[in-house]
Amino acid sequence: MAKKEKYGYTHLSAGELLRDERKNPDSQYGELIEKYIKDGKIVPVEITISLLKREMDQTMAANAQKNKFLIDGFPRNQDNLQGWNKTMDGKAEVSFVLFFDCNNEICIERCLERGKSSGRSDDNRESLEKRIQTYLQSTKPIIDLYEEMGKVKKIDASKSVDEVFDEVVKIFDKEG
Ligand code: AMP
Repeated sequence: MAKKEKYGYTHLSAGELLRDERKNPDSQYGELIEKYIKDGKIVPVEITISLLKREMDQTMAANAQKNKFLIDGFPRNQDNLQGWNKTMDGKAEVSFVLFFDCNNEICIERCLERGKSSGRSDDNRESLEKRIQTYLQSTKPIIDLYEEMGKVKKIDASKSVDEVFDEVVKIFDKEG
């Protein structure tokens, strides 16, 4: 059984939802999303949150018990956080935030390796440097806010895949 099944979560990746939306020929946002992703910038919250909410609503409409979500790559900045609080007020509760802590050089090396087969337009050194700047300026302060609320579970993500996975499992066994 996959772990996400064991813990009953539905995994939603903000980046993946945006990449899927970009591929949709009927979407009015395709070009805009591509430009933001390539520049390592954060896509406007109205787009990201509408995609997340649609997925969450559809999942719960199909099975009301599937009401636990693991949201990957969100909230990424103040705008994301405000959009989330406005849209989800009274509808969803954030149990905890998983923070995969890893130094820049390891992250860059891993993404460049992934870039050999991912086909992603942002798995190149130029986009990655921009993404790190975006992370430091916009995302880290949001993690700090959740830290102040005592919600952050930090994992040393520079370790091997198996070691990181074991740490994640320990957290879910305790919290999930
Ligand atoms: P990821 O798949 O998490 O590595 O994200 C890839 C790219 O998608 C980011 O660099 C952003 O351009 C965009 N993206 C991902 N998550 C978000 C988000 N929460 N808000 C806006 N843009 C996002």
